[in-house]
Amino acid sequence: MAMTDDATFIPKDTGERQPTCRPRRPTRAVQVGRVQIGGQAPVAVQSMTCTRTGDAEATLQQIRELASAGADIVRVTVNDDAAAAALPRIVREANMPLVADIHYDHKMALAALHAGITKLRINPGNIGGRDKVREVALAAADRGVPIRVGVNRGSLHKRYRELRQIDPAGALVQSALDELEVLAAVGFFDVVVSLKSSEPHEVIEACRRFSRVSDVPQHLGVTEAGTLQAGTARSTATLGVLLSEGIGDTLRISLAADPVEEVKAAFHMLQALGLRAGYARVVACPTCGRVEVDVMRLAAMVEELAKELPPDKVISVMGCIVNGPGEAKSADLGIAAGKSKVAIYRQGELHRNIDKDDLEQVLRDEIARLRGLPQ
Ligand code: SF4
Repeated sequence: MAMTDDATFIPKDTGERQPTCRPRRPTRAVQVGRVQIGGQAPVAVQSMTCTRTGDAEATLQQIRELASAGADIVRVTVNDDAAAAALPRIVREANMPLVADIHYDHKMALAALHAGITKLRINPGNIGGRDKVREVALAAADRGVPIRVGVNRGSLHKRYRELRQIDPAGALVQSALDELEVLAAVGFFDVVVSLKSSEPHEVIEACRRFSRVSDVPQHLGVTEAGTLQAGTARSTATLGVLLSEGIGDTLRISLAADPVEEVKAAFHMLQALGLRAGYARVVACPTCGRVEVDVMRLAAMVEELAKELPPDKVISVMGCIVNGPGEAKSADLGIAAGKSKVAIYRQGELHRNIDKDDLEQVLRDEIARLRGLPQ
């Protein structure tokens, strides 16, 4: 620690990145196409399409959007014959790891395996008898395809209903462990588990308990979390606790919103926790009565343009000179708006002062320069 004249302690800036989270808990590695889940691999970001899977064109378009936002793995529902029929083309053209989401009908899981899917998600609460689970496991083992046992509080098998009343987290964990036992009995260990509820405290408690008794990688998520803003807050508050304890190998932020937003929210969260490099960081002041330019509009524009920059880049957009120069010192590009001019900083040094009217174009040019593009 360094000390100022007035004896206030300030942290010494060593330039080193401080670890935000406890070390990741050891889990077994599961290969989902080219992406590894668990075994100390980076936390994989997932999302799910919301198109009719039978509409291959629309589904492929959404998969491409999710891939360009950075999704590592995309899940599609396989819920009817049209979806099963479209799957071979989707798998062929998507060129990324895809998970088939299966409920009620184990034949859809067999069809998805036949189509070349990279992972299955089955829900032990509604997939039917254990003979069906065994049949799916044997077919998955034949093709080297892992299975996620996706336990969900809203669809727990009736045998856990009583336990759910007194110990909801315990019911989630017990359902997962029982299902893993069914799979283990046929020699199937290539598994990932998710323990989801719409109640954050149940998710946290279930995932903590499961991590104490199993090395199976965990897929984290708060189910039915809500709309863009509420759901992101609910999910990140929950998943942030678990991830900071070293729990979690892959995740989805489930939102009632465009699925691309799920991927963006996941990367912002993982970046904040120091677990993944997400996007270039845009520091933007919250604005107040001193603001001299339209920070909200400019910051949104910069955030969009900055997606093309390497994730270690920092751009600060500050509405006045109170904190502007200070923030610019640790940014690759910074602006601090004054009464008549705007100061442009490059790598912490004042580069020049420009007219406010030129600001938008100058920002575009400066970001193009950071990308190494001709301006
Ligand atoms: S940087 Fe200036 S405009 Fe922005 S919040 Fe701080 S004082 Fe207000």
